[in-house]
Amino acid sequence: TFVVTDNCILCKYTDCVEVCPVDCFYEGPNFLVIDPDECIDCALCEPECPANAIFSEDEVPKGQEVFTQLNEELAQKWPNITEMKEQLPEAEKWDGVEGKIQYLEK
Ligand code: SF4
Repeated sequence: TFVVTDNCILCKYTDCVEVCPVDCFYEGPNFLVIDPDECIDCALCEPECPANAIFSEDEVPKGQEVFTQLNEELAQKWPNITEMKEQLPEAEKWDGVEGKIQYLEK
């Protein structure tokens, strides 16, 4: 499966959802997740993310392992998103800031 990681938080560009062939992205207030039970590992979303926040499960950056579990958990709770929309207003400012997990709204 693929995993959305820290740098999506407070940016939430949605280019990824537009290319996913199985529509397995779910949307929270300031973060997106992938449902690991639905993802077919096509890898199409990975290069689409302007914030480079999507990784294959076995390539999740060191220190961000918690996101694998968070994607699984939050995909059960949040609504499905299948169409691209405007990124969050301060996306540009937050892109690249480390440790945004403290701001994650569930
Ligand atoms: Fe969707 Fe493919 Fe990305 Fe999985 S790897 S979330 S199936 S676009």
